[in-house]
Amino acid sequence: MQKFFRMKVTGKLDTDTMNIMKTPRCGMPDVAEFSTFNGRPRWQKNSITYRILNYTPDLPVSVVDNSIQKALNVWSQVTPLRFTKINNGDADILIQFMARSHDDQNPFDGPNGVLAHAYAPGPRIGGDAHFDEDERWTDNQAGFNLFLVAAHEFGHSLGLGHSDDRRALMFPTYRFVNTNNFRLSQDDINGIQSLYGKKPESKPTRKPEGKPKPNKTSKPADVPRNPTAPKKCDRELKFDAITSMRGDLLFFKEGYLSTDILPHSIIRG
Ligand SMILES: [Zn+2]
Ligand SMILES: [Zn+2]
Repeated sequence: MQKFFRMKVTGKLDTDTMNIMKTPRCGMPDVAEFSTFNGRPRWQKNSITYRILNYTPDLPVSVVDNSIQKALNVWSQVTPLRFTKINNGDADILIQFMARSHDDQNPFDGPNGVLAHAYAPGPRIGGDAHFDEDERWTDNQAGFNLFLVAAHEFGHSLGLGHSDDRRALMFPTYRFVNTNNFRLSQDDINGIQSLYGKKPESKPTRKPEGKPKPNKTSKPADVPRNPTAPKKCDRELKFDAITSMRGDLLFFKEGYLSTDILPHSIIRG
């Protein structure tokens, strides 16, 4: 459990650990895995619309459009979901750039700190993604990469909570990674497929033969503990605290909002 909360693993019951244990939490063992929101909200359809309500002045419109589209593609590549951009009317996922107090009860906090937040699938604000206009949005490794943050936020818009797998896109803190040929971690794939299933056109995939994969780059086998998606935490995943531990701010919030934060370990290249 200490590891899950990224505390110093002592194996002893110190005060921090006791405090965490007193917080109502999931009854499942704390294993490195994705999570869904309380009640597992998901879109009850595969065709989902999105609309970009305004644009950040940090980037050309075409770059914002492209980053958002790429971020949604990350999820549609591994599920039956399809995303359609609309320019008028109500969309399932409304995307906005706003600073400080905006249309909800969760004001942004100026530069750094919270970068964005998104709401779990549902009517009205459900699915919507808000980006803090006080951040510097980029399409590279400076500032905050809009594609990477958006891809993470859309995980929430589709029903994923945070993962404690550091390799996962749904890990709560921002980390720049190469955005060319971006690939979800197996944990993210397990998570989203637990809600929407696999991409239907998955014909029996025959591995090309005579082409052994390079061993060096292959990840350790991520064998899902449970081949059918684990049903994690369908009750009592209730955190309602903001905790600072070892330099990481952890936001535990009841309900469907996830905030995303600047880690101490931001990588700049
Ligand atoms: Zn908001
Ligand atoms: Zn998040």
